Amino acid sequence: MADFSIGVDLGGTNLRIAAVDQSGTLLEKIPLTTQVSRGRDYVMDEMCAAIRSLAARLQPSGKLLGIGVGVPGMVDQRTGYLRGCPNLPDWSDTPVRAEIERRLGTRVVFENDANAAAVGEMWLGAAREVRDLAIFTLGTGVGGGLIIDGKIHHGVIGMAGEFGHIMIDPNGFPCTCGTRGCLEQYASATAITCMAKSSSDPELVAAMKSDPGVSAKRVYELAMQGNSGAREIFDLVGESLGRAIAMVVNALNLPMIVIGGGVANGWEAFAPALFTELHKRSLVYMATESATRGDAAGNATVITRSQLGSDAGLYGAARLPMPL
Ligand SMILES: [Zn+2]
Repeated sequence: MADFSIGVDLGGTNLRIAAVDQSGTLLEKIPLTTQVSRGRDYVMDEMCAAIRSLAARLQPSGKLLGIGVGVPGMVDQRTGYLRGCPNLPDWSDTPVRAEIERRLGTRVVFENDANAAAVGEMWLGAAREVRDLAIFTLGTGVGGGLIIDGKIHHGVIGMAGEFGHIMIDPNGFPCTCGTRGCLEQYASATAITCMAKSSSDPELVAAMKSDPGVSAKRVYELAMQGNSGAREIFDLVGESLGRAIAMVVNALNLPMIVIGGGVANGWEAFAPALFTELHKRSLVYMATESATRGDAAGNATVITRSQLGSDAGLYGAARLPMPL
């Protein structure tokens, strides 16, 4: 068996751990549930026990190259502290990296989960052909990751690429970050559910009455069935994404933007409005498209769905400690 690394995708609901070899082959995956209510120490102990036993099982036949952990929050790369982590409330402002390293007795690569997802897509997914990309991960919240010249762009301390807090509407819905109108309030699963619950569209109100357990997936299904209120919500998701992507494309003229996370499964419902808005708002996108028309190398900006889906962050986390 080949040498391997261990990747961890720590979310507010799922805690997934995988051993992956250098060719990207999955050797073993351990799917756990994040027991948030039991507190940080419990979750960390459980995670580290699973990592240790996985390493012990595989090490006789290959060398452990390292451990990478992706987390849903802003990571201070200097200190390994986590900041702004609504899905893991008691983890914020704590030295998470040091606590994991102390338990495992070894260094770990600690990274924001969307940055890890961007690495995963570049390694094995939609972005294999490019060295520069941005990813928008649409889940409970909206995450973002930026790769420039094959490397995660960290910014000053590791917090670059927080695309979920790009402002869509200065007078819009209040955001958990303290301001208003952030993308996260329009394009996350939470936002979709919220908008459905507060909709006054008679068709959507009627559909919701018969099905009170509303989810973003259910709203998507209604949109695809032609429900006017649900369609309006997904139009707003697409329009908001188009606006945010236009800002990123205008700033960076990237060759690829990947849309990941669970809400990306609603691509068919939101993509038309996304592209309409992007064409309207980004001269850079339009100019790149027209300058490269007919270009066999396909150099225009590609806006595409994630190929690895919910595994992007897990594979990316495993890729982090491997040699370049
Ligand atoms: Zn915000």
